[in-house]
Amino acid sequence: MDKYDILKKYFGYTGFRKGQEFLVDSILAGRDVLGIMPTGAGKSLCYQVPALLLPGVTVVVSPLISLMKDQVQALNQAGVHAAYINSSLSEGQIAKALSFAANGRYKIIYVAPERLETPGFLSFAEKAELSLLTVDEAHCISQWGQDFRPSYLKIVQFIKRLAKRPVVGAFTATATGRVKEDIACVLGLVSPQVLVTGFDRENLYFGVEYPAKKDTYVMDYVLGHSGESGIIYCATRKNVEAVHAMLSVSGINATKYHAGLDNETRRQNQEDFMYDKCPVMVATNAFGMGIDKSNIRYVIHYNMPQGMENYYQEAGRAGRDGVASECILLYSAQDAVLLRYMMENKEPNVEFTAEEALAVAERDMERLRAMEGYCKTKNCLREYILDYFGEYGSGRCGNCSNCKKEFEETDVTEAAVKVVECVRQMRGRYGLRVVAGTLSGENTAKLKEYRVSEYPAFASLKEWPQGELRELIGQMLLEGYLDQTKDKYALLGETKKARGLFLGECRLIFKRCKKDSAGDGRKGAAVDKRSRSDILNSRGLTLFDLLRQLRMEIAREESVPPYIIFSDKTLLELCVRLPFNGEEMQKVAGIGENKYARYGERFLGAINDFTGGKREKLYFGDEGEALPAALRGHHGGKPVGKTWYNML
Ligand code: ADP
Ligand code: MG
Ligand code: ZN
Repeated sequence: MDKYDILKKYFGYTGFRKGQEFLVDSILAGRDVLGIMPTGAGKSLCYQVPALLLPGVTVVVSPLISLMKDQVQALNQAGVHAAYINSSLSEGQIAKALSFAANGRYKIIYVAPERLETPGFLSFAEKAELSLLTVDEAHCISQWGQDFRPSYLKIVQFIKRLAKRPVVGAFTATATGRVKEDIACVLGLVSPQVLVTGFDRENLYFGVEYPAKKDTYVMDYVLGHSGESGIIYCATRKNVEAVHAMLSVSGINATKYHAGLDNETRRQNQEDFMYDKCPVMVATNAFGMGIDKSNIRYVIHYNMPQGMENYYQEAGRAGRDGVASECILLYSAQDAVLLRYMMENKEPNVEFTAEEALAVAERDMERLRAMEGYCKTKNCLREYILDYFGEYGSGRCGNCSNCKKEFEETDVTEAAVKVVECVRQMRGRYGLRVVAGTLSGENTAKLKEYRVSEYPAFASLKEWPQGELRELIGQMLLEGYLDQTKDKYALLGETKKARGLFLGECRLIFKRCKKDSAGDGRKGAAVDKRSRSDILNSRGLTLFDLLRQLRMEIAREESVPPYIIFSDKTLLELCVRLPFNGEEMQKVAGIGENKYARYGERFLGAINDFTGGKREKLYFGDEGEALPAALRGHHGGKPVGKTWYNML
């Protein structure tokens, strides 16, 4: 058997994604690897395929019990012998699992980092042939990451104690330079092969909405996506409770998660969500790490998060299976005010010196500003995200709320010049609100106290509505004509670039949303033919629902989450291809030998009952096409975004 046979037999895929093959080959050639790929890119396969080809056993270090459980369930379903060893097992169970592993019964075992140093595990590691050690979520080893885990440092000591050093692989979705370096250095990777794939998630739609009533928006959205799985993130427990109550009262099967619930309730609610018993989860950001559920079709942020890192991580839980999914952020100005307030009133961390505390506060404030920039930009949202993470996009993705909105563009260079003049006259004494108020000639008590009417720029833009004026200043900040001090006062100043406006070297274009395209940004624009109702016709959708029920039935029988049986993507492809026999069925991505042996007959039966054994076409698109383009796009081959090799 070679790597392709393994891929087909156990995982049901006909091709590797580009980066995957590089990492698989490197591991098989005995090289350490560092794989940095976004969520859903398919990191697991990069070490699971070699694990099945190498002699001996592969140890995977993973930070969370829920993650281990999920992976092991999925492997067992695929017919791979795997187990996890963590604190959820009794000592007896652990001893047994380790002796099975030492005897070659398991090819892959998952452990928590704490486990590595226990005598039981060390004696196992001496006896067993350890070919590969994989560190999943490897960013946990970096003190610069958001999820630093001191216990990850134990991995290094463990490797040093081994008589024979295994190949070491590290995988993460966090790619900031510092974290990347830390992983390679701290973990002691030996001239690793490094692969970084782009951060773009093509199947995700990004949207920012400014609904007058967030509750109404959420209700409409969830009702419009009934039967689909989604997460609604809220900033506070109180919001979680309120949104959850609102949905429940309307008969929506939703569950909730936040730090105020006791452990058992949290565990139960998480499971209800994972097993699709409650398709909708309302949660604070306490919910997330370790959620590998692949069929999450939307993530709505009821409140703005604290930074782009958090946002992209949380939103990125949508669409791991590669099927079109939506990430929507509901913006309101109060959210930003609240976050600022929380930051300013945060208990100081006693471990920090005053200087460090200041640096951290400034960094937090900067993150928040970048997050606000995302909510306010009128340019492509995907471009904004990629730019934030140090990549370049195409400039216009066509699949975000800004690309789909229609804007009226006006040259406002003259107004921009007036803004800069005002800032100049004020000599960096004031922030955005005061500057905007001055320009529009407001007469509030506060502005009077500052005596802003004495500045020549007072009321020089009085024809501009306050809201638009603030937007204009926001855009000038984004485009680098103005900057802000990094402290909480965020005082405005001009930059070198601003001179270009005076000299006529650059022009500022202001975008106003056209009235009729406001609201749901997707109306009127060409919609990507990617979501299931865009691919399947109504009969196809009926079959999809039938297959989904069958999947649920089987999941209940086997006590695993439905997406571990088959992903949404696999069900979609079944509806398109309509296989009538085993050979046809195994052409479908995600159906390997083992899964076919287990479930093939029942799914074939269901398809046969539905079609009466007659060929029919249940999807839109050309007859000749075996698969609509949207499905083909993620079918094996295509890498996620750009790919860099060996750049650390
Ligand atoms: P990550 O750990 O990078 O977030 P996973 O390893 O959980 O991602 O994989 C995400 C999804 O992609 C899974 O449903 C997996 O089965 C699927 N996948 C991985 N590799 C391939 C491939 N070569 N072809 C098709 N689907 C794949
Ligand atoms: Mg993973
Ligand atoms: Zn876009």
